Amino acid sequence: MIVGIIGGGQLGMMMADAANKLGHSVISYHNTLLCPIKRFSKMHYVGEFNNLALLEEFCFKCDVITYEFENINYETIKYLGDLYHIVPNYKALRYSQNRLLEKQLANKLCIKTCVFKQIFAIEEIDFSKKSIVKSIFDGYDGKNQALVEHSNQDLIKELLQNDCILEEYIDYDFEVSVLVNKDFYNNIFCFPITKNFHVKGILQKSIVPVNLSEKLKTRLIENAILLVQHLDIVGSLAVEFFVKNNDIYFNEMAPRPHNSFHHTLESCNVSQFTQHINCITNKKISEPVLLSSACMVNIIGTNDVGLENGFLHMYGKTVVRKNRKMGHITFIGGEYE
Ligand code: ADP
Ligand code: MG
Repeated sequence: MIVGIIGGGQLGMMMADAANKLGHSVISYHNTLLCPIKRFSKMHYVGEFNNLALLEEFCFKCDVITYEFENINYETIKYLGDLYHIVPNYKALRYSQNRLLEKQLANKLCIKTCVFKQIFAIEEIDFSKKSIVKSIFDGYDGKNQALVEHSNQDLIKELLQNDCILEEYIDYDFEVSVLVNKDFYNNIFCFPITKNFHVKGILQKSIVPVNLSEKLKTRLIENAILLVQHLDIVGSLAVEFFVKNNDIYFNEMAPRPHNSFHHTLESCNVSQFTQHINCITNKKISEPVLLSSACMVNIIGTNDVGLENGFLHMYGKTVVRKNRKMGHITFIGGEYE
């Protein structure tokens, strides 16, 4: 099939690599020419993500279209989704790109979240309570959010120029993510739950397997599956949770492969990218099997990496910036925590 991928960063690149290996060909669409996906694409479109005419030309050439990030204009995807075969569907995008809607949806499905509310002015914030202000749209890698502290007042005012949410700060024990896949035949399978370590909102490290009680594991998986079913997502849904004592809190979700599951390239019998592409190209999927423990470490803000052992994946980004994800390394077979 001809697989169209909107977004040409590392996730798009690894999806394209998987698609090629499965015998498909890839057409990509990104807002720059020099981007990781380009060398894996038969054809690469350069355009803004709101250029409807060009996006339509791109979609017209593809049998199925998927995307590597959520921050695409919803109206644009809805318009295209009514005409072309975009998977996952635009409903998934609508909720996952909006921090308010996704948490409201979680609560509606009886999935616990932190306490949250939309705010419009700094006067609504109680500075004595540990909390976080986040923009409702366009956040990733800890961007567009600020801890409620007096020293952050200017930043908070700046954030409040756009729609914002105020969230209770959860003093969690640790963070985990669940990755669920559904194919067109309603087969639903999860990858092994991953434990994540963030610094300043940016994922540094992910490990599998995670030592969790069966009860907790079941609840995490059930919650993630509930979301997949409710939104009728074909493809991938990654869900981030905080774990505190025996409570789990939904944090956010993304209808695509996820940084915390890059280790599946080496740790499982099927990678998250292959699983996603198989789902969207009408293949039947089966349950991923963990072959080895693994620890994935992101390479951030540098292209200069010495490797002693492990599997190195550099994304081929030409511009190196502070806090930019440039690659990752996966180590397997050890005991990680
Ligand atoms: P992003 O889209 O940038 O990943 P997140 O909401 O996942 O946004 O926030 C990034 C990280 O910041 C989280 O993985 C977590 O470490 C921390 N964080 C976010 N919200 C909260 C919260 N309510 N309580 C405690 N930590 C939080
Ligand atoms: Mg996150």
